Amino acid sequence: MPNPLAIPSPELIARLGTIVGPAHALGADDERQAAYLVEPRGKYRGRTPLVLRPGSTAEVAAIAAACNEARVALVPQSGNTGLVGGQTPGEDGAEIVLSLGRLRQIRGVDQARTSMIVEAGLTLAEVRAAAEREGRLFPLSMASEGSCQIGGNLATNAGGVGVLAHGNARQQVLGLEVVLADGRVWDGLRTLKKDNTGYDLRDLFIGCEGTLGIITAAALKLVPRPAEVATAFAALSRLEDVLALFQHAEAMAGGALTAFEFLPRFGIEVVTQHVPGARDPFPDPHPWYVLLDISGSTADGTAERTALTLMAEAAAAGIVADATVADSLARARALWRLREAMSEAQKHAGGSIKHDISVPVPLLPAFIAGAGCVVERVCPGARPMPFGHFGDGNVHYNVSQPRDMDTARFLALWQPMQDAVHGLVVEMGGSISAEHGIGRMKRDELARVKSAVELDLMRSLKAALDPNGILNPGRVL
Ligand SMILES: Cc1cc2nc3c(=O)[nH]c(=O)nc-3n(C[C@H](O)[C@H](O)[C@H](O)COP(=O)(O)OP(=O)(O)OC[C@H]3O[C@@H](n4cnc5c(N)ncnc54)[C@H](O)[C@@H]3O)c2cc1C
Repeated sequence: MPNPLAIPSPELIARLGTIVGPAHALGADDERQAAYLVEPRGKYRGRTPLVLRPGSTAEVAAIAAACNEARVALVPQSGNTGLVGGQTPGEDGAEIVLSLGRLRQIRGVDQARTSMIVEAGLTLAEVRAAAEREGRLFPLSMASEGSCQIGGNLATNAGGVGVLAHGNARQQVLGLEVVLADGRVWDGLRTLKKDNTGYDLRDLFIGCEGTLGIITAAALKLVPRPAEVATAFAALSRLEDVLALFQHAEAMAGGALTAFEFLPRFGIEVVTQHVPGARDPFPDPHPWYVLLDISGSTADGTAERTALTLMAEAAAAGIVADATVADSLARARALWRLREAMSEAQKHAGGSIKHDISVPVPLLPAFIAGAGCVVERVCPGARPMPFGHFGDGNVHYNVSQPRDMDTARFLALWQPMQDAVHGLVVEMGGSISAEHGIGRMKRDELARVKSAVELDLMRSLKAALDPNGILNPGRVL
């Protein structure tokens, strides 16, 4: 066990301030600190004596070295969109926040435009736009992409809507630059596709949630942009039909099936009631909906024809009750808006208890049916809103409070509800965190899903890379 961490002294605070300069060291009485102290759902609120906004890798390294020497905790923060409390400083006011948002350079694109080296503080949307300017695609994509930053995406091994075709963030990285806990810099910014020279250090830092090192830059893979994308929206009566449609779509489109998301009726209701301009695509209500993309490498209408044939065949087989294929980019965007606005719109249905789980794809209908029963046992009348990345077996199993229940009383059921839902996930061989990570929220759950050997290996890695335990203490482990 490392020695206990120290409270930052006034001398350390002054020294750290000189590293970044006064404009970028926000003290406890600086009102600009507010944006760094609470995470998106308001579940975690912290205090800090200092928010530091370094402008270079060298400044990050100097900060880490000083904090390591003083045994003071550092909490890396990027876009502050993480959903498990990892980026929020603790309530005791002893942790220093290290914001990476000023590391904004695009360091280079290779001649063949197959890779791009970027600094950690660019937003995901900016990285995607930079790839587009090169005529290429960086396929990581999610509803938070205007705010989350690429360093945060890699630290959480983010998922999103492009995983079906391109994999998680991990699969989209060739190399990293990382500042270690003691301030040394690991320059692993290689752009090789194949490199079997020893242990893969890159993969240790991706998904480490800031507990093993601070990502300051990354070499990202760029892929060809699709020449055309057809977006379809289907209404279905049963979850088994959603699975049947997924299998049919995969068989017909293969790798051209680039997104397959599902939504429940309750989700469509909250979005169409509360999001300006959002409309139900169909005249009648249906229990389930699917949003899918089929991409094509040639702009010859093949993608649209495949989507139309898929929907016609699925309707003829009784899988799909109604369907539409977008006939313009504006229409496709409006259909995607229904999916992307779902978590935000759910706030209008009162308090909600959230889960981010995965099970093997064929088990999804059984999981959702089983979870509905366990939720009803914990809180009769609670309203499940399962939605998300069906094609990845990943459900955001959110549960809204019963209509007439007090919100605080409902949220007090978070633990028993989570225990019950996660119990079912574990029984089905699934994961209690498909894409959001562990952070502080699920740390105590980890022992339930990891073996003693796995936990021991994880602790050994932490002790080797951060022997004083200054990086994001109390997160993950
Ligand atoms: C509306 C909405 C939709 C979302 N949709 C998705 C989705 O589809 N898929 C998905 O996976 N997630 C999703 N998320 C969650 C979130 O956007 C991701 O986890 C994202 O990758 C976090 O990036 P960030 O820049 O905001 O990181 P932060 O929230 O700032 O940090 C997240 C974690 O990474 C650590 N960290 C941050 N930067 C660094 C760094 N440079 N080096 C080391 N550690 C670091 C932090 O300490 C923290 O533990 C969504 C969130 C919202 C609010």
